[in-house]
Amino acid sequence: MKIIVTGGAGFIGSALIRFLIRETDCEVCNLDKLTYAGNPESLKEVSDSERYRFEQLDICDTTGVVGLFNEIRPDAVMHLAAESHVDRSIDKPLEFVQTNVMGTANLLQCALAYWQVLPEERKKGFRFQHISTDEVYGSLGKEGLFEETTPYDPKSPYSASKAASDHLVRAWGHTFGLPVLLSNCSNNYGPYHFPEKLIPLVILNALDGKALPIYGKGDNIRDWLYVEDHARALWLINRKGVPGETYNIGGRNERTNLEVVQTICRILDELRPKTSGSYADQITFVADRPGHDRRYAINADKLRRELGWEPKEDFDSGIRHTVEWYLNNDWWWRPIRERKYAGERLGKGVK
Ligand code: NAD
Repeated sequence: MKIIVTGGAGFIGSALIRFLIRETDCEVCNLDKLTYAGNPESLKEVSDSERYRFEQLDICDTTGVVGLFNEIRPDAVMHLAAESHVDRSIDKPLEFVQTNVMGTANLLQCALAYWQVLPEERKKGFRFQHISTDEVYGSLGKEGLFEETTPYDPKSPYSASKAASDHLVRAWGHTFGLPVLLSNCSNNYGPYHFPEKLIPLVILNALDGKALPIYGKGDNIRDWLYVEDHARALWLINRKGVPGETYNIGGRNERTNLEVVQTICRILDELRPKTSGSYADQITFVADRPGHDRRYAINADKLRRELGWEPKEDFDSGIRHTVEWYLNNDWWWRPIRERKYAGERLGKGVK
């Protein structure tokens, strides 16, 4: 089986490709533009495989994408390429519209043209799999969970652009018959996570003796899923999911941001103690993110019931693996901190 993975040099895409090369016999072509968030170093452990290939390409580039489809002749596209950081979407919203909306539309058109002329058997087996976020559902109060049927109510330029891309994928499925699959996943964490996101930022700032910034009071709630559990879910959906269907993915690990940061501090106190005091002494409350969603929590019962998925990690085990990974892999994150992003505040608004 041949698969084009878009955004495979990013956090989740690289976890997916490492999984596909390690645990399946698929051939994988990684289509990635290599924005600031893309890092070929995340694919070091698979880059020598003859089943892996990298193509630097923008999903908005019609000629390039058509050419790649004709060359690879894939059985599936797993589409993860996106601008993904809410704070950056507050600073530069149009970049999110360009990649997440226009890029997805372009990819759909290219996939459709390729799929329409496939022989009947291959046409039936082809899948266009779109990877999305629970943020399209908006923000929850104290009670309730996001269901697959929850009405869309995105609140940030990031989640609005992802919501638009989900609608486009469903429309291409409904109108043209393209066999599409969708999933909406909660917040991921784990190894190779770009250190602009809360968990890696806090680990690395802690080790550097810098402030550990917490937006507002730190009482916003996220539902955390270990990235390798997400990668396994995506493959299961690809193989067993019903075209046209949407699957929520989440591990039922709700934590406030403050709890997440305190947990990281406790693990670091144990594994890399400071000469005096606790890493928690570095916690600093800062002005909240504009329009900050209060709570996300996802009901993944459909995925468990219909496809038999179970996450392997809970938050306690996953966060420990993650902290250990950052402690042991500074070869990966140090160049990023020195050359790409040192941890400065993002998301203050369009200048
Ligand atoms: P990421 O920012 O780490 O990686 C995105 C990748 O896409 C990068 O390698 C980047 O170079 C590439 N890319 C960006 N624009 C591109 C373009 N125009 N053409 C080709 N490649 C391009 O993102 P991530 O956290 O790995 O998220 C992957 C996907 O999963 C996204 O679609 C995101 O919306 C979704 N998602 C993320 C989370 C999360 O917690 N991170 C949760 C649910 C869903």
